[in-house]
Order: sequence, then C-alpha cells, then structure tokens
Amino acid sequence: MAREQDILRLPPPKRLPRLTSRRIGIHTSIAGGVENAAERAYRLGCNTFQIFSTSPRQWQPYELSRNQCAQMSRLRERYDLKPLAIHVNYLINLASTTPLFLDKSIEAFRGEVERALGLCADYLVLHPGSFRGTSREQGLARVAASITLATRELDLVKGKLTVLIENTAGAEYSLGGTFEQVAELLDRLCGIVPVAACIDTCHVHVAGYDIVSAEGMRLTLAHLDATVALKQVRVWHCNDAKAERGSNLDRHEHIGKGKLGREVFRRLLNDTRLAHAAFIAETPIDRPGDDRRNVEALKKLVSCKNSR
Ligand SMILES: [Zn+2]
Ligand SMILES: [Zn+2]
Repeated sequence: MAREQDILRLPPPKRLPRLTSRRIGIHTSIAGGVENAAERAYRLGCNTFQIFSTSPRQWQPYELSRNQCAQMSRLRERYDLKPLAIHVNYLINLASTTPLFLDKSIEAFRGEVERALGLCADYLVLHPGSFRGTSREQGLARVAASITLATRELDLVKGKLTVLIENTAGAEYSLGGTFEQVAELLDRLCGIVPVAACIDTCHVHVAGYDIVSAEGMRLTLAHLDATVALKQVRVWHCNDAKAERGSNLDRHEHIGKGKLGREVFRRLLNDTRLAHAAFIAETPIDRPGDDRRNVEALKKLVSCKNSR
C-alpha cells in the first residue's frame, strides 16, 4: 500500500462503523508495526481482521516485542475486533519432500505459532502445501506430521489458538483442493492441536464447486457439511473470483465484481448455520479505498433482520 493512501494518515472516522450480527473484516496491512493493523481495521469499518505476522514472502521473521503484543490486545479490546486471524507465510510447505526445505518450513511454522500465541490471535490460517514428488496421501500425512513436530511443547489450548486448514484452488500438486482433503487433515490433527477450517469462496469456485447458482450453493454447503462440517468452518475468506469455475486459477476479485457476484456473499452472510464464523475479505487494492469499499459491500449484504 502506498504511504499516501494509508488510512492511518487520514483523520480518524467521525462515525463509528455500523455493527452487524456478523463478524466482517479484511486482510489488513501491518506496515509500521503489527499493532497498526488493529487501528487500520477499525478505521476500515471491520469488527474482525486478518494479518501476516511477518513478511509473507521472506524467511527472516520480524521481531515482535511484548509492547507491540500488549498494544494489539488493547486496541482489539477498545474496538471490539474479534477474532484475529493470522495468515501463515506463503513460502512454508509442510508437505515438502526436500529435507532441507521441510526443516525450514517446520521451523518457520513454529515461529508463526509462537507469534500467534504472543499476539493472542484466535486463528492461524494455513495452506496445506504442495505434494510434488510424492502422492497426495503421503503429502497429507506429511503435513500432519510436520504440524505435530512444529507445535511440540507449545500450548495452543491454553493460548486459545486454533490452526485453520484452508481449502485451495486445486492447482496441480496442491493439497486441500477438495473438502475431503481438508477434512482428512482435520481428522489426522484431531487431538494433536486445536484445528478447524477456513474456506475461501474464490478457491471453492475455481476448484470446481458450484456456489453461483442457488441450488449449487445448497448442494456445495451440504457437501461441505458432510465432509468438514459447517460448524468447523471458523473463517470464510470472502473473495470474488476473476477466473472461471474449475480453472484452478487463484485470482481474487472485488466483492460482486467477479464470476461469483454479490448474491453468493448475501447467501453466505445470512445463512444462520454460518453465523458463528468470521467473514474476511482478501480482495485486491487496485485503487485507494478498495479495502474500505469491499468491507462496506459485505456489510451491506447482511439483511436487516440479521443486523443489530
Ligand atoms: Zn484465502
Ligand atoms: Zn487465494
């Protein structure tokens, strides 16, 4: 985000953001320090948000001071920002067949868990990784083993931290392109770490599921319920899609401006079976204000009877 467009440089909003019965937010920049994301999220009109706790494409983690963690907690309390989700670094592949890369990934994932615990985050969102060089089955087993190893002697239960396995766009070798694969990972990790799911609407669509037609959405949610269980979906990544259904192309689009359209999000946001979940956009910022507009677009879709 360009500095002059940073919402922190604008005067604070005069009107408090409209609250709804749903938790709605967006992936928020941590520029200038991780705690700045809470102030930004509030100014964007969110009551939940997601961040990276380090640079998403570098191995070297940021230092996180006790003071920054305390400040984050204070701001979240003041602005009622919950839950806080942290998205894991994109470089990490817990299914890697290269020993050196796997070790590096496990160490980096342990750092992610430690920072998430330090920041009192609720969720740590993980893409299951790539099984290139082995079978999908072995890949899933390796992810589960890697998470087990990475979280040894870290108390996620006490820290109230849950690892969320995210479904993916289903590109070649990528794990998590079907609900069954997400469910299998949850099964393998059950009893080892607190674990649940994050479902990304763009990924669901490009992986081949129909959520655009009303009947397709009904069937897809029934399938999701039968595999992962709807109550296990704690975060919905709300992204419209630039690419066609089944294309496996992961290109996020602004809410209502892509192949999904607004109705998809209206149905999700107003489905009482999903009311426990947080709805977090990861939409592009093509023009200044796109982040605020996408949050607003989601909030407007919550029907009056679900607002408060
Ligand atoms: Zn996502
Ligand atoms: Zn994506």
